[in-house]
Amino acid sequence: MKMTRHKRVFLFFFFIFCVGFLSSDRLFGKEPLKIRVAVFRGIPEVILAVAGPFEIVDARTQVSLYRGKDLSPAKVTVTPEGLKLKGMVFTTDAFTCLPKKQAAITVNNRHYRGDVSIFKDEGGSILIVNILDLESYIKGVLYHEISHRWPMDAIKAQAVAARTYAVYQKEAMKLKDYDLTADTSSQVYGGYESEKRKTNRAVNFTYGEILRYQGRVFPAYFHATCGGVTENASELWKIDIVPLKGERACSFCLESPHYYWKAPADLKTIQKKMGARYALGGVLKNISVAERNSTGRVRTLELKDEQGASLIISAKDFRAIQGSDVIRSTNFTILLDEGRATFVGKGWGHGVGLCQWGALGMSKKGYTYKQILEFYYPGSEIVKI
Ligand SMILES: [Zn+2]
Repeated sequence: MKMTRHKRVFLFFFFIFCVGFLSSDRLFGKEPLKIRVAVFRGIPEVILAVAGPFEIVDARTQVSLYRGKDLSPAKVTVTPEGLKLKGMVFTTDAFTCLPKKQAAITVNNRHYRGDVSIFKDEGGSILIVNILDLESYIKGVLYHEISHRWPMDAIKAQAVAARTYAVYQKEAMKLKDYDLTADTSSQVYGGYESEKRKTNRAVNFTYGEILRYQGRVFPAYFHATCGGVTENASELWKIDIVPLKGERACSFCLESPHYYWKAPADLKTIQKKMGARYALGGVLKNISVAERNSTGRVRTLELKDEQGASLIISAKDFRAIQGSDVIRSTNFTILLDEGRATFVGKGWGHGVGLCQWGALGMSKKGYTYKQILEFYYPGSEIVKI
């Protein structure tokens, strides 16, 4: 029997439909990995806007609560019953705003890709979480973590490290309302407005690539400048694996403006910042290095008052208390002169994993991003997820 032209056309489109359906990411569970970033925390209200159609759903149950054509800038506040948006009170502790047809969503005037969840947080404040696919998230991170004027291989190395860190955090935080914060305590994220053409190219080029060690993703820490040698992660956190063992002699960051630093501080100010937890009996008179670790960084410091009473504090805590932008690393010596201390140090950051200025130095010398990653995370492998 001969097929009519209509039948042939129908079968052709039916075939196309089947192929499309069977190969769809949804069918094979390959939905893009979503990252949840806390973009604002502990604020009393927030301004939300959507330049096109959108839907509000309950963030816990996904039940639809409202649909709108667009949303001109509107305040979201906390009420005893739930969350209030433009005169409407949603009786839930969290809702998600889903822009449709790629409508731009802005939170406090900042443009984000993906969806935005608003949580009623502890103490009546608001937590805003941007939910977006992993690749878009990395695009919003790179510009803040590395210069888009740097050579491509340095940017690619940073893209893989940042993606690895995000995937690790997603696993570690799965029971929480978000995976990462948008500040330096995770990795700095600025949303759509932070995207640059060159950094986006580095993300696309390394699409889906992450680092693994013995088949497992690990927190691929990075920092600005190691100052000569990378740090062992176990000095700071409870993690002891080969790629984060540190002690990599790095001369690649010598050109970094953060290679050497100096921080003068009077003992009175230091003592004031120490607070009640590290209170000495009397007035702080002396501060000295008690112990250094295998990379030469300070592990502990000794503080003494005029009576000779003393206390020991870890350099990690001391740096956090005095300000990590003041005491830029734990690789320092202390000069004392009549009640004034001068910290003279090397490097900026904790020193674990990839040295960003070192990655710049390596890429200038012709090393590829894979070689850079192998140098700073030895024993790890790059896999595509
Ligand atoms: Zn370095």
